[in-house]
Amino acid sequence: MRVERTSSAAETEAVGERLASELGPGDVVLVSGELGAGKTTLIRGAARALGVREPVTSPTFTIGHVYRGRVPISHLDLYRLADLGQEDPALLDDYLTPDAIAFIEWPGAAQALLEGDDRVSRRVKIRHAGGDRREIEL
Ligand code: ADP
Ligand code: MG
Repeated sequence: MRVERTSSAAETEAVGERLASELGPGDVVLVSGELGAGKTTLIRGAARALGVREPVTSPTFTIGHVYRGRVPISHLDLYRLADLGQEDPALLDDYLTPDAIAFIEWPGAAQALLEGDDRVSRRVKIRHAGGDRREIEL
């Protein structure tokens, strides 16, 4: 575990880029933090470093996107899911495939499913630290 401190969105993207170099197919990264903490920003940096050229924004009308990168890059946002316990347990399976690298914003809703899931390889926590400053635990 390490803590990185950033003071701009670009610096947080760069942290995502470095994280990307430590990831491979099958990895699932949980990204937690309040609204506006920089979860999507960090994932954007990671996705770019993994060869994604299309815009990386939070999924809105669906729980996730799969971007085309050097490998498939899944980006999920579970904010609107109150509790995945009530949903089909296979809901995540389209995204957490062995060939893909997956990033999950607001993983809390899927806690019951993801707890003890050996696909979860990293947990990133981003905290506001005043103004544009952020503390990123990863
Ligand atoms: P989340 O996905 O956690 O809700 P976003 O990444 O969508 O957050 O938004 C973060 C917002 O905060 C963006 O508008 C970004 O430009 C801004 N920002 C300011 N400073 C930082 C920083 N150090 N790291 C990340 N984002 C920052
Ligand atoms: Mg977001």
